[in-house]
Amino acid sequence: EKKVPSNFIRNIVLEDLESGKYKEIITRFPPEPNGYLHIGHAKAIIVDFETADEFNGKTNLRFDDTNPIKEDIEYIESIKEDVRWLGYEWDNLFFASDYFEEMYERAKLLIKKGKAYVDDLSAEKIREYRGTLTQSGKESPYRNRSVEENLALFEAMRNGEFKDGEKVLRAKIDMASPNINMRDPILYRIAHATHHRTGDKWCIYPMYDFAHPLEDAIEGVTHSFCTLEFEDHRPLYDWVVRECEMEHRPKQIEFARLNMTNTVMSKRKLKQLVDHEIVDSWDDPRMPTISGLRRRGYTPEAIQNFCKEIGVSKSNSVVDSQMLDHFVREDLKMKAPRTMAILRPLKVIITNYPEGKVEYLEAENNPDNPQMGVRKIPFSREIYIEQEDFMENPPKKYFRLFPGNEVRLKHAYFIKCNEVIKDEKGNVVELHCTYDPETKSGTGFTGRKVKGTIHWVEASHAIPAEMRLYQSLILEDEEQEEKDFLERINPNSLEILQGFVEPNMKNVKPQDKFQFFRHGYFNVDPKYTTEDKLVFNRIVSLKSSFKL
Ligand code: ATP
Ligand code: MG
Ligand code: MG
Repeated sequence: EKKVPSNFIRNIVLEDLESGKYKEIITRFPPEPNGYLHIGHAKAIIVDFETADEFNGKTNLRFDDTNPIKEDIEYIESIKEDVRWLGYEWDNLFFASDYFEEMYERAKLLIKKGKAYVDDLSAEKIREYRGTLTQSGKESPYRNRSVEENLALFEAMRNGEFKDGEKVLRAKIDMASPNINMRDPILYRIAHATHHRTGDKWCIYPMYDFAHPLEDAIEGVTHSFCTLEFEDHRPLYDWVVRECEMEHRPKQIEFARLNMTNTVMSKRKLKQLVDHEIVDSWDDPRMPTISGLRRRGYTPEAIQNFCKEIGVSKSNSVVDSQMLDHFVREDLKMKAPRTMAILRPLKVIITNYPEGKVEYLEAENNPDNPQMGVRKIPFSREIYIEQEDFMENPPKKYFRLFPGNEVRLKHAYFIKCNEVIKDEKGNVVELHCTYDPETKSGTGFTGRKVKGTIHWVEASHAIPAEMRLYQSLILEDEEQEEKDFLERINPNSLEILQGFVEPNMKNVKPQDKFQFFRHGYFNVDPKYTTEDKLVFNRIVSLKSSFKL
């Protein structure tokens, strides 16, 4: 069952269908292939695909590949993979670069109509002449070139007769417009760069504000969703569609972008984290990229439910990143098998347990979901427990193991600590305990009670595993607020531990997810796990102060 909450976008689409303005809804997701997708893009993907889907429309994936300098095939492949993994399949796959010839012709049409001209001003001068919000712009001395001269110069631009930056094509609109976007925006620039699809065929490339409305119009897009920053560009979007005499008239609709606490959300910034080797790659489990979230262990369902919960609106806000964690816990609660794992091992010898004996105890795989059945776990004289489950001199209300105290081993017996073994430096290296056979789990023993239950893994069968624990990559507090994100990197964002898991984890596969009793949800890392090495990423811990 799909949950699509009502929102202003849906209402516009519904109205346009009912009034007959459009017969069929066509949307598009239009990434520029200049980086990997992030959680902000997931919001856009869900708006684009789910809105069309609700009205039996179509959604296309279109690569907005109009800037060869920053783009790459690698990004195209990752974007396709990420969209599919999120659970969406596009109706058509398009590339803006396929329309370069048509765009060029439309630009010539503008020149012929006296609506565009070639300008020789430098980028700096153009900026200066553009004016400000309170100051009207100044016309370029090249603004009144004849149509013939403009056509000849534009063709010469295309033919490679000028260097980068020597000339641009500009729309001739209104240098006094209160909307700065309408002050003769640049339509084409020169860039002698090899494009990943068109090679060296072109050395002029259309600007976003010119290309995007044409792409939408060519593809018959009815509703073109974008983020709020483009609201002031809408008059230009409509101008391009109208003046280029496009038959189909798409409608641009803006919604608030997703911002999250402790998260940078821009491909440009995320690329810096990769380039500076602050993370190991775009799919580092600390990255808010779709591929990073996937590798960390987040599920498409969790991301979808998160995006649906935040909804779409017209006002910008910052979402607590703990909300995404809430949805992954909700999703994995019933799905992930529970198992015991030791992150920081401490050896325990059960001195009254027969040497050489191994017994198998029964453990449920998910008490919240009995259908997941039970498993057998070995128990013997030697086990590992967590270092933090023992204290030699405990404070009050510490109910775990300390000298003379008895605790319950989950799924097994009560054990009592009798002796603490230390190394030369005084570090606790081993505990000697005794168990009480009467207290076996599941036998209904009621003779006496203990206050603490701890988890454990039998030592001779345990499988060593690397545990990777994460904290936010970016720090955020009042002192830090003014600083650049590269100065707010959390030095403790990754902690690597060598622990143990139950022998039933022998056959796990990359991306398998588990709840480690008391520690949280973990995912088998697909990159660092090999035949002889098991690596887990902690997705989230179990507890949270977050409330919906
Ligand atoms: P970035 O600044 O991270 O590079 P972008 O907007 O330049 O993002 P595009 O590839 O051009 O990236 O974006 C594709 C689509 O995703 C656009 O429709 C854009 O509006 C949308 N989008 C990008 N970031 C967000 C966000 N944080 N929240 C919602 N939608 C977003
Ligand atoms: Mg962009
Ligand atoms: Mg951007």
